[in-house]
Amino acid sequence: MLAARGIIVPNRCCFCNVDLETITHLFFECSYTFNIAKSLLPWLHNLFMRPNIYQLYDSILEQGFKSNTRNYYLLTASTMIYFIWRARNDRLFGGNVDCNVTISAKMRKAVMFKTHDWMTAEFFQPHLRWSLRQPGAMLTYRPIRF
Ligand SMILES: [Zn+2]
Repeated sequence: MLAARGIIVPNRCCFCNVDLETITHLFFECSYTFNIAKSLLPWLHNLFMRPNIYQLYDSILEQGFKSNTRNYYLLTASTMIYFIWRARNDRLFGGNVDCNVTISAKMRKAVMFKTHDWMTAEFFQPHLRWSLRQPGAMLTYRPIRF
């Protein structure tokens, strides 16, 4: 898309500098980013083949997790995709090269902040006003920060 508009973008993966950058390579075939994924989603160690994005989400749903754990891993997968894309753009366009440990730490921090809100909301839910206990109310609820 960018090339069609005359914007020159390198076609090599900016993480491994070996393979052509495709969506599949960037998120799952690249050893650099897949090691990050395996650190966040441990069952990926057991797969014989690298998944694509649909197989990644299917693998979360097939683990038999309870809903809170399933939602945690769905959030983690989405966070992983977002932060790998951010790291890629930071390298290509911002000149900022984070190592895999830093990228992984940013992902864990983002997931921790989001799940902290979930836990806080669940903890205080019995004490919430009636209007906040109605379906959909939690979508806009923002817990008070101490
Ligand atoms: Zn790569």
